[in-house]
Amino acid sequence: MEIDSLSSLEKREILFKDIKNAIEVEWINTFKLPNDEAIIRSTLTMSDVDSAEARLRRFAPFIRMAFPETIEDKGIIESPLVEVPDLKKALNSSKLDANIRGKLYMKLDNELPVAGSVKARGGIYEVLKHTEELAVKGGVIDSYEDDYCKLASPAGKAFFATKKLQVGSTGNLGLSIGISGAAIGYETIVHMSSDAAEWKKELLRSKGVRVVEYGGDYTEAVANGRADSANDPDSYFIDDEKSLDLFLGYAVAAKRLQKQLRQQHITVDKEHPLFVYIPCGVGGAPGGITFGLRQFLGNHVHCFFVEPTQAPCMLLGMVTGLYNNISVQDIGLSGKTCADGLAVGRPSAFVGDFIKPFLSGIITVKDKRLFEYMRLLWNSERIFIEPSSCAAIHGPYAMTHSNEMADYCYDNKLNRNMDNATHIIWATGGSLVPEDIRQELLAKRV
Ligand SMILES: *Cc1c(COP(=O)(O)O)cnc(C)c1O
Repeated sequence: MEIDSLSSLEKREILFKDIKNAIEVEWINTFKLPNDEAIIRSTLTMSDVDSAEARLRRFAPFIRMAFPETIEDKGIIESPLVEVPDLKKALNSSKLDANIRGKLYMKLDNELPVAGSVKARGGIYEVLKHTEELAVKGGVIDSYEDDYCKLASPAGKAFFATKKLQVGSTGNLGLSIGISGAAIGYETIVHMSSDAAEWKKELLRSKGVRVVEYGGDYTEAVANGRADSANDPDSYFIDDEKSLDLFLGYAVAAKRLQKQLRQQHITVDKEHPLFVYIPCGVGGAPGGITFGLRQFLGNHVHCFFVEPTQAPCMLLGMVTGLYNNISVQDIGLSGKTCADGLAVGRPSAFVGDFIKPFLSGIITVKDKRLFEYMRLLWNSERIFIEPSSCAAIHGPYAMTHSNEMADYCYDNKLNRNMDNATHIIWATGGSLVPEDIRQELLAKRV
C-alpha cells in the first residue's frame, strides 16, 4: 500500500515503530502555525529577545576585557555566516546524490569565541544575567548604566569568589559556564554525564573549575547538580532542562543572523525561502534559535531540528505528546551516540510544547553518517566541526531524499522557488577540539 493512502493514525504508528527501531526518519510537524497565530499563543515575545540582546551589549566592554579574542567584535560574541559551495557540490556528487537546489550556507557557531560552541550564546548569557543581578544587589555596579568593567576590579573579584555556579552538562554547556564563570571569579562546579569527552573535563580543570563525574547520562548529571545547588544559598544552578534565560540567549542569534543575511544580500520572502537545520539535544539551543528566527524573519523561514537515531528525545516527546514525561530509554533506545552534545534521553521541560507552533519538523540521523559528513566538510571546505554539529549536515541531504520533505515543499507551495532557496547548516561546535582528537575523529568509522 502507498504511504500516501494510509490514515494519519497508521502513519503515526509506522513513524513510532521506526523511531523505536532507530531508523532514520523525517517528521513534519503538523502543529506548525502561521507566525501571527503562533506569536499570540507564545508566552515570550520579541521584546524579551531584544532585552536579552541589550543585556549582552551592556556586558560587551567587560567581555572585551576578559576575553581578548572578542576585541575585534567589540566584546560581542558572534560567528560568521559563510557560503559553502564546495560542500554543496560534494553532497550533490554522484556518491551521495543529494540534489540540493539553491544556495548552501553554514552558520559557524563552532567558531564562537570563548566556548567554541553554540553554548557560548545561551550559557554565557545566563551567567551574565545572574552576574548582573548579583552585582547590582551587592553594589559592585550602581546601575545598568554603570561601567561593567568594575566587575573585574579587586572588589568585584572578591565579591564573586564567595558565589557559586553549578551546571549539569554533556560537555559544551559545562565549557561555556565554566570558562565564563571562572573569568568572573565564581567558584564553578560542572556535573558531567558519562558522555562528556575527556579533553573537555581537562580543559575545565585547567581553568580551576571543579568537575564532578557521573557514570550515568545527562538527566542524572542535571538532577544531581540541581540537588547539590539547592542545598547551598550562595549557589546558582543553570538548569538546561528548564531555563528561559538560556533559551533567550540562544534566540538573540536570530536577530544577529537577520543582520548578516541583509549584509550578504540574502533575501527571505515567499519567492526566497530559507531553510535552517539545527542539531538538537535537550532542545534549548535549537528551540531558542528557531523561536528567534520565526520572530525576526517570519513565515518564510523553515526550521528543522536534527537528532541522533539513538537519542531522538525531542521528536519522541512531540510525536507522543508526552514531552519530558517520556525518555528514549522508555522505548528501548540506548541514548548513546557519538554526537556527545546530543546524547540526551529526555527533552527540556518546556521547549517542546513551546516551540511546536514555530517548528517545521525533526529529522534523525545515524552516527555512521556523522563521520562521513565530517570528512566531506573537511575535504571540501577545510572546516572542522565536532560530531554533534555534523548532524545538521544531514538536513539538506534529507531534504532531497525523503517523501516527507517533498510533501512539505509541495504543501507549502515551495517547489517553484527552490532554486532561489537558501539553506543554512547550523554548525554548533568544534573549534576547541584539540588537534590530536580532531585527527582521531576525522579518521573514525562507526
Ligand atoms: C548542546 C549542543 C547542541 C544542542 O543544544 P541543546 O540545547 O542541548 O538542544 C548541539 N550541538 C552541540 C555541539 C552542542 O554542544
